[in-house]
Amino acid sequence: MKKLFSRGLLLFYLLTPAIFGVAQSTAKKNVRTIIIDPGHGGLDPGAPGSFSTEADVSLAVALKLGKALEKEFPDIKQVFTRKTDMLPGNKPNKDAANRYRATLANESGGDLFIAIHCNSAGRKPGGWYQRVVVGTETKYRKNKKGKKVAYKAKIYKNVWVENKVKGTETYIWAVNKNEAKINSMQHNHDYFGEIDSTSTLELPDPSDPAEKARMLIYTLNYFRKSLTLATLVEKQFVDSGRVSRGVKQRNDKGIWVLQATGMPSILIELGFITNKEEEEYLNSEKGQATMVENIMNALRAYIAGAEPKPVQKDEVKPKPF
Ligand SMILES: [Zn+2]
Repeated sequence: MKKLFSRGLLLFYLLTPAIFGVAQSTAKKNVRTIIIDPGHGGLDPGAPGSFSTEADVSLAVALKLGKALEKEFPDIKQVFTRKTDMLPGNKPNKDAANRYRATLANESGGDLFIAIHCNSAGRKPGGWYQRVVVGTETKYRKNKKGKKVAYKAKIYKNVWVENKVKGTETYIWAVNKNEAKINSMQHNHDYFGEIDSTSTLELPDPSDPAEKARMLIYTLNYFRKSLTLATLVEKQFVDSGRVSRGVKQRNDKGIWVLQATGMPSILIELGFITNKEEEEYLNSEKGQATMVENIMNALRAYIAGAEPKPVQKDEVKPKPF
């Protein structure tokens, strides 16, 4: 009996690496193709910074991410929506380019879609001069009768207003439209978000049965995975000392591409290009290397099947529609 037990134990030890090996390769097989989508490009520079554009920063970081992925996961196929400064597919406008992004992702049989963007806020990159009242002074004027009367005059000064909004955000598609509206309204005072307002792309109509079915498929198959990866990415940014604005849900035109791709999908906002400090970080070798490392760490955990707890539970809870 004892002998049998130890033989069984031995068998267990022998099989364990095999079991783990199988589990690992199964997990890896879940991500065979990654679509990397650097935002904007060409005639669409995205958000402007003081000395750089969103399109350029997104491309630079995306290309470096591709190199890091290739090094660590040479078996994972990478599909880039663009690798140079042009609209994906060299399309003539943003809408056609966005459709191309989604079609390419779907036709390539992607298992994961990662869009890379930068955020913008405020009136101008860096900051702006604003005329403000700094005090009052006593001045005199003559009234109708020619008598001198004192009055208080405002003293104005042009003060420099720094564009302070900063931080990272990772978006996932909001299945529930009402919820998405609430979330996007929270930052309306300082947040411009994705500058795709000129887009004529149709957003899905939740009352349409076909769309309803598609959203259900998304909820069942992709929501949890998208949320997992988004959470891992934001956690990595926090661990590197970045300010994280969290995982957010949106379903406006700026992230249209997320719902048009039949796979888990996230859109990473690397930081605010309109914030002086973050623009410098976004453009620096060190900053780009760190952000790539952050995304790689998140991807590694995701591929290994990590299931972190949501960082902002209230904002990302899936709801029936
Ligand atoms: Zn963008």
